[in-house]
Amino acid sequence: MGIMFHHFHNNRHYGGQGSISKKDFEKIIHYIKPWRILDPHDWIERVNRGLLTKNDLCLTFDDALLCQYEIALPILEKYNLRAFWFVYSSVFEGGLGKFEIYRLFRSKFFKNMDDFYKLFFSKIQNSRFEKSARLKISQVDIDRFQYAFPHYSVNDIRFRMVRDKILNRNEYESIMDGIIRKKGLTAEHLAKNLWMTNKHLKDLSDHGHAIGLHSYTHPMIMGSLSFSTQKEEYQKNFNHIVEITGKPPLSMSHPDNSYNDHTLKILKQLKIICGFRSNKSPPNRGKVNQSQYELAREDHTHIIKLINKRKSYENKQS
Ligand SMILES: [Zn+2]
Repeated sequence: MGIMFHHFHNNRHYGGQGSISKKDFEKIIHYIKPWRILDPHDWIERVNRGLLTKNDLCLTFDDALLCQYEIALPILEKYNLRAFWFVYSSVFEGGLGKFEIYRLFRSKFFKNMDDFYKLFFSKIQNSRFEKSARLKISQVDIDRFQYAFPHYSVNDIRFRMVRDKILNRNEYESIMDGIIRKKGLTAEHLAKNLWMTNKHLKDLSDHGHAIGLHSYTHPMIMGSLSFSTQKEEYQKNFNHIVEITGKPPLSMSHPDNSYNDHTLKILKQLKIICGFRSNKSPPNRGKVNQSQYELAREDHTHIIKLINKRKSYENKQS
């Protein structure tokens, strides 16, 4: 099982929903036991030889976030651990990962997430998307989504469905950019210190970490894009990683857990050995690790919940 990490917070990096501190991260490492964590290259080797077992664990960091490098890396070094880092390349080449900027905006400039959702849903209600949002989002869909991602609230899911099923990328971005402008902010300003640079990437690679694919622009629904668009997303990502690290990537994770048969074919063409999903519930309710390109991952928020549960149980006992 891969453990999936995204956001970390300290006084320099704003956290928000699901983010953890350095202390939380160290607690997780203790909870899963540092000696159980496989080096990414051992992991790849085991996948390649079909030797991966249910008990194998590895650590994965998605989205090239600077907070991971600054907050999590020192802890990894303390325990002499190495990890997978799945990066999307556009942000290294001057692009803005809008979804990341929006996430920061949502968490930093609203009292809480529901406060943001209220504003967002009201924009939808007063737009030409009102009818399709009403018709296309059913309780059954919400239930199914919650089964696959149990840590999301109903509003989290409703928001993601409007974003991914009702709006296209441009429509969503124009609504969000409008809300940001109304607050007197700009995307460029919000983007400061969000992502790593090539220097960080090279440093990770030189110290034995595995840098893997996560597409070029991080589309939200990769699985709905054409073969050639997907190919371009992964090829550009691949080229960037080779150019900076001098090593061809052998691993990847699916941005927003989205992929289809085209994606798997492209990964094979690029000689990728292992790929990760972002949850544990397999598509088609099949095996947990459906294929070498569909390995399961546990979200770090679940582990924090387990730790807290155990702690409250122990408190009750003593
Ligand atoms: Zn991602």
